[in-house]
Amino acid sequence: MTHFETIIIGGGPAGMMAAIASSYYGQTTLLIEKNKRLGKKLAGTGGGRCNVTNNGSLDDLLEGIPGNGRFLYSVFSQFDNHDIISFFEDNGVALKVEDHGRMFPTTDKSRTIIDALEKKIKEQSGQILTNTEVVSVKKIDELFQIKTKEQTFTADKLVVTTGGKSYPSTGSTGFGLEIARHFKLEVTELEAAESPLLTDFPHKLLQGISLDDVTLSYDKHVITHDLLFTHFGLSGPAALRLSSFVKGGEIAHLDLLPQMSSEELLSYLTEKREKSIKNALKELLPERLADFLAQPFAADKVKQLTEKELTQLLANIKDMQIPITGKMSLAKSFVTKGGVELKEINPKTLESKKVPGLHFAGEVLDINAHTGGFNITAALCSGWVAGSLHW
Ligand SMILES: Cc1cc2nc3c(=O)[nH]c(=O)nc-3n(C[C@H](O)[C@H](O)[C@H](O)COP(=O)(O)OP(=O)(O)OC[C@H]3O[C@@H](n4cnc5c(N)ncnc54)[C@H](O)[C@@H]3O)c2cc1C
Repeated sequence: MTHFETIIIGGGPAGMMAAIASSYYGQTTLLIEKNKRLGKKLAGTGGGRCNVTNNGSLDDLLEGIPGNGRFLYSVFSQFDNHDIISFFEDNGVALKVEDHGRMFPTTDKSRTIIDALEKKIKEQSGQILTNTEVVSVKKIDELFQIKTKEQTFTADKLVVTTGGKSYPSTGSTGFGLEIARHFKLEVTELEAAESPLLTDFPHKLLQGISLDDVTLSYDKHVITHDLLFTHFGLSGPAALRLSSFVKGGEIAHLDLLPQMSSEELLSYLTEKREKSIKNALKELLPERLADFLAQPFAADKVKQLTEKELTQLLANIKDMQIPITGKMSLAKSFVTKGGVELKEINPKTLESKKVPGLHFAGEVLDINAHTGGFNITAALCSGWVAGSLHW
């Protein structure tokens, strides 16, 4: 068969959910994915455990989607994060909540999520073609013509879910943007979002240390979240979120113990005055970080620090200054900012206003979110809406 009522290009979370919705509505459905397996990028999220959604409120979702999240009001009124949770529970996948509302399968394996999505498509008689790259798309009269290297398919409805341009090795190389341009739809400028930060800092000494709920700030932007020191600088949610507000050349301020005021920290250190600086700090911070903070001082014990040195130590803990030299490139950033211009798209159906039958969902749209399950939520929910029938 080469004609389908709905063809979906791109088997990430948006495309898989679009295929589920389309087949649920009884449409003959084909999902085409160029990788050997579905959901390659999704599989790598949450450290390979799949951060499938976030269990926050609608306000939390909108806050977690700083790049045009409000466009998704209508999408979320049709299918939201709670529908994602119910979908997986109804299909035998138990989920659990971790810090900051992040949700994962209880198996801690991405495969559980991808298998459940794939199984549902097949159960509803949707067809899946992997290892197949779409090379061109046209509309002739009322029909879309979708060409792969080997075959040409036709469809009444086309859903484009090819993702952004970050991590192109996962398959997201921006092909959907070429489709949009072919149909004369505007595409906004692409930028790196959720980028690890490059710093001028002795990061090699701290490489691999991860911290829970520290405060990283620049100017009026104050972010309390987890942080990771890497061989090039800073990563983890706090750094990724701050990346929207910096370019390079700024000084970021890091409070390693935001839950303690400077006064409380001073009285803690006074209490521990007989201990070595490192041992006193080790009770509050990871050992290697305690070592790093103790290193600049000739004194061994807390009580041997001069007043000036004690002030310096407190400042290093409560206001560590980290010069930012830049960010990772778009290809090495977690998310793409920019994409198909939203003015081109009907927010209720995700159909192009200019080209009837042409729909877009997921990261190919000009929508970007924080990691923590928000991008995946946007992709799954918009996928459902784009794949649904609307009367
Ligand atoms: C390392 C990493 C960690 C992340 N962690 C998180 C996280 O914790 N929480 C979160 O919310 N988000 C996270 N994200 C972002 C999230 O994974 C993406 O926003 C999400 O996968 C986008 O879904 P999508 O379906 O729109 O596109 P994608 O997942 O990018 O899927 C698009 C698919 O289209 C296919 N495709 C492209 N062109 C063609 C073609 N011509 N023919 C056929 N197929 C094609 C691609 O091969 C790909 O499989 C992370 C991203 C990365 C890179």
